[in-house]
Amino acid sequence: MDGVGVEVSKRPHAVCLPFPAQGHINPMMNLAKLLHHRGFHITFVNSEYNHKRLLKSRSPSALHVSQDFCFEAIPDGLPPTDADATQDIPSLCDSTSKTCLGPFRNLLANLSLDKALPPVTCIVSDGVMSFAIKAGEDLGIPVALFWTTSACGFMGYTQYRQLIDKGLTPLRGEASLTNGYLDTTIDWIPGMKDIRLRDLPSFVRTTDPEDIMLSFAMGEVERASKASAIILNTFDILEYKVLEALSSMFPPIYTIGPNHLIVNKIVPQNAISSSIGSSLWKEEPECLQWLASKEPNSVVYVNFGSITVMTPQQLVEFAWGLANSKNPFLWTIRPDLVKGDAAVLPSEFAQETKQRGLLVSWAPQDEVLNHPSIGGFLTHGGWNSTIESLSAGVPMVIWPFFADQQTNCWFSCTQWGVGLEIDSNVKRSEVEKLVRELMSGEKGKEMRKNAMEWKGKAEEATGPRGSSLLNLEKLVKDVLLQPS
Ligand code: UDP
Repeated sequence: MDGVGVEVSKRPHAVCLPFPAQGHINPMMNLAKLLHHRGFHITFVNSEYNHKRLLKSRSPSALHVSQDFCFEAIPDGLPPTDADATQDIPSLCDSTSKTCLGPFRNLLANLSLDKALPPVTCIVSDGVMSFAIKAGEDLGIPVALFWTTSACGFMGYTQYRQLIDKGLTPLRGEASLTNGYLDTTIDWIPGMKDIRLRDLPSFVRTTDPEDIMLSFAMGEVERASKASAIILNTFDILEYKVLEALSSMFPPIYTIGPNHLIVNKIVPQNAISSSIGSSLWKEEPECLQWLASKEPNSVVYVNFGSITVMTPQQLVEFAWGLANSKNPFLWTIRPDLVKGDAAVLPSEFAQETKQRGLLVSWAPQDEVLNHPSIGGFLTHGGWNSTIESLSAGVPMVIWPFFADQQTNCWFSCTQWGVGLEIDSNVKRSEVEKLVRELMSGEKGKEMRKNAMEWKGKAEEATGPRGSSLLNLEKLVKDVLLQPS
């Protein structure tokens, strides 16, 4: 049942609903492309805010609408604004969970009235947009929840209830953040022997029993058990112990990752969906030409994702650490990377690094990571960045910011052998030391070798008869094409 030649009215119709942030939209878009390739009509639902940003992202193909791959938008519940930046995540979580169900139901009702469209047959919703389960129940159709975290991050969230019951979180006073309390070892989580409290998803670091993110994460995890299926953008061999434990806690879990590799392998370059982009910022592909002028494995790629914010002082520490390491670097500095102000780098830094550094505001990350000149990645450890780096065989220095990034970092450093962690209180001397180690030290060599092995395993998982490709088939046949 290939996408080619299927009559429009007979197509199954999947409504894909990502959480409105870049790190959720990208993997959902990849999944939507895979389902489209498998013959589904796709309705991809963005927030109105992001829909406008995508249209503005100046890439004419960002929303290339075709007859069977359509875009819709619903309000996210936050006050309207013309800003072009990442929204405040706690406010967004709070508002989507409280306000989006109504507009989403209305949208589904409108889709069903449109006789030119095939009836909606399933919903693929972000794991943290679990209100979609109610909408699916109304229509009697399956709802698969796509958690765009790692399996280990997802497992971390499932432990919040127990951490509260055991009195480990909320923390007792600000002092707990500094006095070694976060080093407490947590010994009961399957697949995470000797993990510390500080390595679990960051929302446990609160002293507030009413903390929005703590209760939001718990609510979303609890509702996950009502889904028809859970999808994760990972591959079995990478996280098998955690996945085994999760499989006895939730509805069937389908590991379909790294899903960008599956898209590269099975969706033809000339397919309609291939030209659809999902970057909320305008990419600067010229950086690829600059990379081409550099020696193999010589450039550090620096990028902290779409949400991380830092202080002006932290920016300066990273800058001098990079400059002092003497390696060439390509650094993505989003316009909203620095708290409250435009990012300002010292003029001496620009002078000193002008021969070997390039700054961009948004990069085509997958192409960058796969460029032969890239030798290492200085990252915040977001799950997409982590799995994209593993897929490209690139080792990392990691400065985790929030959410599951702490857990991804712990796994990258202690279990997968591909990462070195930078202290949250970043200092230029440490950046310099770790970047040198990453690019030319013994540990760096070992991490590159491990990363290359993971790349090979990711290729296998997404190749013919690989676990992720088989799981995609199973998800389609056993869940998405079934009545609920
Ligand atoms: N990304 C990109 N260009 C950039 C920075 C990021 O294409 O300059 C993409 C990156 O490839 C990844 C996503 O944005 O797919 C960021 O997701 P991640 O989970 O790593 O971090 P988050 O933004 O959610 O913190």
